[in-house]
Formats: sequence, structure tokens, C-alpha cells
Amino acid sequence: MTLDTLPAERYGMFLWVRRGLPLALMAAFLLMGILLSHAPHTPHGFGWCALAAMAMAGVAWPTFKRGEAYLRARRAIIRWDGMWVWLLRPLAKAVGKEDEWILSFCGWNNKLVREAFEVRKSRRSLILLPHCVQLAKCRAPILDDLEKCYDCGLCPVGDYMHGILENGWESRITNRSHKAYREAREYRPDLIVAVSCTDRLLKGLTKLSEVPAYVIPLTLPHGMCVDTQFSVPHLMAAMRTLAEPKLGPRPLEGQNAESAA
Ligand code: SF4
Repeated sequence: MTLDTLPAERYGMFLWVRRGLPLALMAAFLLMGILLSHAPHTPHGFGWCALAAMAMAGVAWPTFKRGEAYLRARRAIIRWDGMWVWLLRPLAKAVGKEDEWILSFCGWNNKLVREAFEVRKSRRSLILLPHCVQLAKCRAPILDDLEKCYDCGLCPVGDYMHGILENGWESRITNRSHKAYREAREYRPDLIVAVSCTDRLLKGLTKLSEVPAYVIPLTLPHGMCVDTQFSVPHLMAAMRTLAEPKLGPRPLEGQNAESAA
């Protein structure tokens, strides 16, 4: 199965809070200022409220950045957005929406990264995958060499390996987050496409904020870290959409001989 286009991102919850809350407060401060300006004994009321309203506008402003402007400011934007996610995570957990909250942030991040890289594709991308996608009882040493997978079809690694080999994309499978960060920093990609559980995606986005990342959540049919699943077609669609292919079409029989002659 292949995906021609990337699925729509779901980010409404995060954006309503991240942009909607400061804008609502801005409107409330402005209204309060107007009311105070008409009230007796509050000569400086409007000024203070206008200042507070401007501060709220400043808090919402980064959510309007797009494309190159977004990429230039991404590090600071991710830090701010991440702070909102961490601050409101306990509340989301209390109402049973913790995963939705984090995934909504991931969806918003993905939307902005897509907008930036659909115009100017990545020339040095890196795929990061967690080791738990490999079947737990499989002994194929894919951490050392992905091509050691026997392609038995029991986990997504076989299909993933074919996609990587056909396109020549750079990829790493790691069993520790800090190794994944180190690999990414050493390779110095201009785009990361990462697959992981929601908690690790959030940590990865905030810790590697210097590199734009498109993220895909794992599904956990057997619980955390065991025989996890992900959509290989989704990952391949992300790479085709956001990154330049590394390998061109393979030459037909005889073309090599002609060019050599
Ligand atoms: S596809 Fe089969 S051989 Fe390859 S990693 Fe998965 S279980 Fe192991």
C-alpha cells in the first residue's frame, strides 16, 4: 500500500489554546481598558490594560509565522510551544486527554514543517526510528545493519527497509533516545522525520529544536516499547513530499554500456 499525499494534520486543540487563549485575553484587556477609561479615579487604567493587551498579542504572534520566517524562528517557537504543552499537560491528563494534547501539538508542528518543506525540499534528511518496531523475538541484527532484516513480514521493518533502499534515504534505528539525538547531531540534517511514542516525540521536538522535524506517532497494540507499529506508507509519503530523492531512476539495461562508450 502507498500513500500519494500526506494525511491531514490534526492540531485544533493545541491551536485553540496556544493562539486562542492569548488573543482572548488581549480582547479582554482591551475591553477592560475601555471600561476603565470611562470610570472615575482610574487615570492610568487604560494604559496598563493596553500594555497587557500588547503583551498578549506578542505571545500569540509566533503562531502566525510561516515558511522561511518560521524556520528562522523555529528554535524559539518550539521552546515557547513546548512550554505550553508541558504546563497544560497535567490538566490534559486530569481530563483524560493527555495523548490528544501532545498529538495536537505534534500535528501543529507537522503542519508548519510541511508548509516550509513542500516549497523547498530537504536536501539532507534523516529518518529516526525506535528499535521497538522490530518484533521482540526477532534476532536479526538490524541495529548494526538494517539490511540484516530477513524481510519475513512479521513487523514493519521489512517494508521500511525496501523503501529506504529504493530511495537511498539516510536512516537510523536506535534503542535509546540519547543515541538518536547524538546520531542526529552528528549527521546534521536539515530535516528529521521521526517515528516514536507521543511522549518521546514531545521530548525529541523540544530537545532537538534546532532541526525541523516531521513526526509520526507509533501505535502500541502490545503496550509501551514492545512490538510497536507504525505506518510505513505514511513515512514514505512524508519523505517523498518533504525530501529530495537521493537516488534517481535506475538506468535501463544497456544505458550504462552506451554512456561508457
Ligand atoms: S521483518 Fe522479520 S526479520 Fe525483519 S526485523 Fe521484522 S521480524 Fe525481524
